[in-house]
Amino acid sequence: MSLETFRAETRSWLEEHCPVSMRTPMAADEYPGGGRRARFKNPETKVWLALCASKGFTAPTWPTEYGGAGLNVDEAQILRQEMMRIKARAPLVGMGLSMIGPALVEFGTDEQKSEHLPKIASGEIWWCQGYSEPNSGSDLASLQTKAIDKGDHFEITGSKVWTSYADKSDWIFCLVRTDFEATKHTGISFVLIDMASKGVSTRPIKLISGKSPFCETFFDEVQERRRRMLIGRRQRGVDGSKTAFALTSVNHDWRRRWRAIPEPRSPTSRRLIWGRPMASLQISPCVKKLPSTPWMTGPSV
Ligand SMILES: Cc1cc2nc3c(=O)[nH]c(=O)nc-3n(C[C@H](O)[C@H](O)[C@H](O)COP(=O)(O)OP(=O)(O)OC[C@H]3O[C@@H](n4cnc5c(N)ncnc54)[C@H](O)[C@@H]3O)c2cc1C
Repeated sequence: MSLETFRAETRSWLEEHCPVSMRTPMAADEYPGGGRRARFKNPETKVWLALCASKGFTAPTWPTEYGGAGLNVDEAQILRQEMMRIKARAPLVGMGLSMIGPALVEFGTDEQKSEHLPKIASGEIWWCQGYSEPNSGSDLASLQTKAIDKGDHFEITGSKVWTSYADKSDWIFCLVRTDFEATKHTGISFVLIDMASKGVSTRPIKLISGKSPFCETFFDEVQERRRRMLIGRRQRGVDGSKTAFALTSVNHDWRRRWRAIPEPRSPTSRRLIWGRPMASLQISPCVKKLPSTPWMTGPSV
């Protein structure tokens, strides 16, 4: 299909299907994070998510067998442009789509991709990120949460902090220590843990404002099957997590730039952030190698 035809078909689909309220600026309490415990204050948020997921438009560049639309870079750009044209909201946002999903596309086993990617793309599962620990913030390599190799499974014990939305999440991607003899920057593995597993618990952290998305997350001899949880090679947590790290940084950079623009913000403001080549980002060499993330370059915010 030519790009012109793709644009015409996409425009017509969006015009026909995007609900009216999804063409307005995102309301803070209508954030489409998905997850098993998702509550949709505006029912059209749910409708829009389901419609986009059915077309693979929540994860446009992911392969169709994993819930994406299998679009190439040019087609994905056209989809973003056409959504921006009608001021459509992003149908789904969150760390599943923007961080662990792209890491899985690159480093996950076929089994892990089949298990997780479709549920991320459909918004069924909400992910959180377990990197920071009480004594491991900027010095992340000093992390102490341990995963002991028990053959077909690992036993995880330790705690994480500042875990955004852990109390609402279904799964967590984590960095844990699997080699206790190695130097601190090695011996770390990148793992996935089901938040419903026995031994996982969370405790919300209240900030001075009285509310906060942050939690402490505890692992008490949690058992997870090896094949299910380990991303990339053991002791090479950085393979998969470098991708997730880079995406975290991109997101933080994007948010920082976005906040720096005074309100009211417009599509022009968005171009101020992303109009420049990606090379303007300090981590650009790393970013350029990453699989494309769905809404990094053009959500309606
Ligand atoms: C909005 C938000 C959401 C977050 N969500 C998550 C999440 O979902 N999951 C997660 O794991 N983490 C999350 N974090 C945590 C975050 O990514 C960092 O890990 C954490 O904030 C830094 O750790 P810390 O608070 O212990 O600070 P520290 O590491 O103690 O740093 C405190 C200060 O000291 C400075 N500093 C530290 N070391 C040095 C040094 N060697 N030389 C000079 N200065 C230094 C730092 O720059 C900083 O200003 C989030 C943070 C924010 C702000």
